Amino acid sequence: MSVPPGSTIGIIGGGQLGRMLSIAAAQLGYRCHIFDPHEHPPAADVAAHVTRAAFDDADAIRRFGAEVDVATYEFENLPVAPLCVLGDKLMPGARSLAIAQDRASEKEFIERCGARVAPWRAVASLDDVQAAVAQLGTPLVLKTRRYGYDGKGQAWIRSADQSVCAWQTIGEEPAVAEAGVDFTAEFSVIVARWADGRHAFWDSPENEHRDGILRRSRVPCSEFVASQIAEGREAAQRIAEALDHVGVLTVEFFASADGPLVNEIAPRVHNSGHWTIEGAVTSQFEQHIRAICGLAPGLTGLTRGGAVMENLIGADIERWPELVAERGAHVHIYGKGEARPGRKMGHVTRVVR
Ligand code: AMP
Repeated sequence: MSVPPGSTIGIIGGGQLGRMLSIAAAQLGYRCHIFDPHEHPPAADVAAHVTRAAFDDADAIRRFGAEVDVATYEFENLPVAPLCVLGDKLMPGARSLAIAQDRASEKEFIERCGARVAPWRAVASLDDVQAAVAQLGTPLVLKTRRYGYDGKGQAWIRSADQSVCAWQTIGEEPAVAEAGVDFTAEFSVIVARWADGRHAFWDSPENEHRDGILRRSRVPCSEFVASQIAEGREAAQRIAEALDHVGVLTVEFFASADGPLVNEIAPRVHNSGHWTIEGAVTSQFEQHIRAICGLAPGLTGLTRGGAVMENLIGADIERWPELVAERGAHVHIYGKGEARPGRKMGHVTRVVR
């Protein structure tokens, strides 16, 4: 069953992803209704309706559900139980969200799907952390099971004597201890899946991170990464099927000498797919709207030879006058207020001929 243009799409979360989803939805003739607790979320500037309420406000979510024809989410750190009132209107479903928001269930699920992750253990005490160091060796990274993003909630242990400090740094929260991967590069597989199982991949971007935050994504990727994409796609497709995922799903990989290892999954459009707005025939945002509304898949091939997307983080946004004056640079400014360090303020994509 399809949701025709003219209908209302609910988007839970009003950040830059919600903003770019709303813009893509508007192009196809949909109206968007944003649900977000903040006073002026970036997506509010470009949406028809906004509900300002807490993510765990079950009554507000019920009312929102009654006003939209289909609902989706733009980030995964949401309480799952209140969203269940949305039933089949929620796409992707609550299962994709529940698995992706807990690093331990995520890793178990990925392994059950036959894909590989770095050696890991769940830890809930300092004793567990010390046992993990003894079993997995160093370097090792502690990541809180929940609410981590952009390298937040993480601490590295480079020698056993750093265990106490790392455990305290992550706030003594339930976590996963993960072996440090000696990777050559990082890449992501971005796939859109429809309810009937149809799916479409984009070219895989090679991703460069600094301080745990994505700085740059480029397509085409290097030859080394290209040699691992078939295995990465197979893993991503199995994960999407097993979740019965509808919409865009992103799987981030380490390209190691032993082949691709999954770092994490995001049940949504992703920063490493922003280049698709100008670099691919159909952007990840439009394709997500097409998939959740049951419209035909759009083509995902490159518009030109490739693209490079650079994030504008914190004070980088002050470069906007020079960037908008640069011929061929596609500048996206998210309309956020204060440019705090580490905050994603915008991005710029340069399409390669
Ligand atoms: P995450 O928030 O888990 O995506 O981690 C952010 C970034 O930290 C990754 O993209 C990597 O650059 C780095 N990182 C995370 N986990 C590991 C690991 N196990 N080994 C090496 N680098 C890692």
